[in-house]
Amino acid sequence: MTKKQLAKEIIERLKREYPDAGCTLDYDDAWKLLVSVRLAAQCTDARVNVVVEGLYEKYPSVEALAAADVDDIEAIVRPCGLGRSKARDISGCMKMLMEKYDGKVPDDFDELLKLPGVGRKSANLIMGDVFGKPAIVTDTHCIRLTNRMGLVDDVKEPKKVEMALWKIIPPEEGSDFCHRLVYHGREVCTARTKPYCDKCCLNDICKKKGV
Ligand code: SF4
Repeated sequence: MTKKQLAKEIIERLKREYPDAGCTLDYDDAWKLLVSVRLAAQCTDARVNVVVEGLYEKYPSVEALAAADVDDIEAIVRPCGLGRSKARDISGCMKMLMEKYDGKVPDDFDELLKLPGVGRKSANLIMGDVFGKPAIVTDTHCIRLTNRMGLVDDVKEPKKVEMALWKIIPPEEGSDFCHRLVYHGREVCTARTKPYCDKCCLNDICKKKGV
């Protein structure tokens, strides 16, 4: 089976397994996803979803958050860890949205990368989830699972994984596929030494079954 054929089969099986898999960060506006994805670094999505409630209660718009004191943002987001740098990035990001983008999140990958604290993973997430564009989100689950499955071969660097996946994942499938990898990575193909291969829907085609 070629990597493209393997990818196609995995996509179809994960679709059946997790038909409704979507982003597990709560947001109702593009800028809020930008904030949440920054807070999610080394923090669970569940905790981020709780912390942002307090943040948006006090600062309910891009304008309000751009004008907020960085120390105050830090005090609110501290439970997510890395409070200082996350607060600084969120503040800088909101300020740049106000100054350069009329308070709106740009729907252009390269423009998104210019925003403080926004890397390829976050920019892809925004492109896929907010704008419905092709996206490959190489988070920790994506990197672990695609290596185990044999979609990539011992590639750990996020950008290299992303580039390898672009070659074998149909663009329109990328965003949902990555969300499903998160679900599968949490429930079955866990980061434990022994994932639950015995109950995995991919165990007859996975390269590293039983790692
Ligand atoms: S067979 Fe095992 S290693 Fe392969 S995807 Fe499933 S749980 Fe992960």
